[in-house]
Amino acid sequence: MTLTIGVDVGGTKVAGGVVDEHGTVLASNRRDTPAEDPAGTRDTIVEVAAELAREFPQVTAVGIGAAAWIDAPGATVLFAPNLAWRDEPLRDYVTKAVGLPTVLENDANVAAWAEFRYGVARHADDSMLMITVGTGIGGGIVLNGKLWRGANGIAGELGHIQSVPDGHPCGCGRLGCLEQYASGNALVRFARAGARQEPERAAKLLELAGGRPAGDRRPPDHRGRPGR
Ligand SMILES: [Zn+2]
Repeated sequence: MTLTIGVDVGGTKVAGGVVDEHGTVLASNRRDTPAEDPAGTRDTIVEVAAELAREFPQVTAVGIGAAAWIDAPGATVLFAPNLAWRDEPLRDYVTKAVGLPTVLENDANVAAWAEFRYGVARHADDSMLMITVGTGIGGGIVLNGKLWRGANGIAGELGHIQSVPDGHPCGCGRLGCLEQYASGNALVRFARAGARQEPERAAKLLELAGGRPAGDRRPPDHRGRPGR
């Protein structure tokens, strides 16, 4: 039986899983993402993968899905709107540190590929579009049976389509991206602003946040579940 390790790297957590060739998850683990610390995030990924590799010595490869823009060869994180990575040579680092061949891909792209191969789109003829809504908004496109990466490896970034001209600043450097209006982070921002403006209407929310509109709770993770 061929086993591989998948590692999901989001703005709030790094989640690992051992997966068989049918897509069944046999074991999993997770750590919080030290999102402000690129080296710490990198080492957390290594820790998560290495722990599972020790537990399942028959594992043959590691796949990383990161909330980030990955270059076309799949070696380097070019940029991550919600993580501190800039031009991070992540694939080769993990390959060396864990001692297993490693594949690096955008998280929404791998989610799209997983749905195409094993999930809701497994009966689709040859093409599908996936939109992921969580901390941010991601997109993945499968065309003619292949993951569509585009010329620079960052095709399908649907969350960064400008939806409000001159709108709210986005982590990607542009203004008014869809992600700034319809993601988990956007909901948190709207809730905080509303609680400041009309505290009486947000009594329950403020109570949950210890009376502070800024709160100390984490935003939901990339699948929309509340952070711990
Ligand atoms: Zn953006």
